[in-house]
Amino acid sequence: MKTLVDARLRDEARRFELRLACEDCAHFCPEQRGCAHGYPNRVERRLDGAEELEFCKEFELV
Ligand code: SF4
Repeated sequence: MKTLVDARLRDEARRFELRLACEDCAHFCPEQRGCAHGYPNRVERRLDGAEELEFCKEFELV
């Protein structure tokens, strides 16, 4: 799911310590450095400098 990154999202992400990287997800397999479901994941997702962000709908916080 793509979402627009604006000042409000950046501010809230900082305040609430938003986690969105695959490494923070319960489905991330550290040995393979990839998604256990086989999704073409991005391990790191950064808000700095990004205009839009792709969230994974199956993200589950560890
Ligand atoms: S389920 Fe989504 S967020 Fe979790 S590891 Fe796989 S691709 Fe990344």
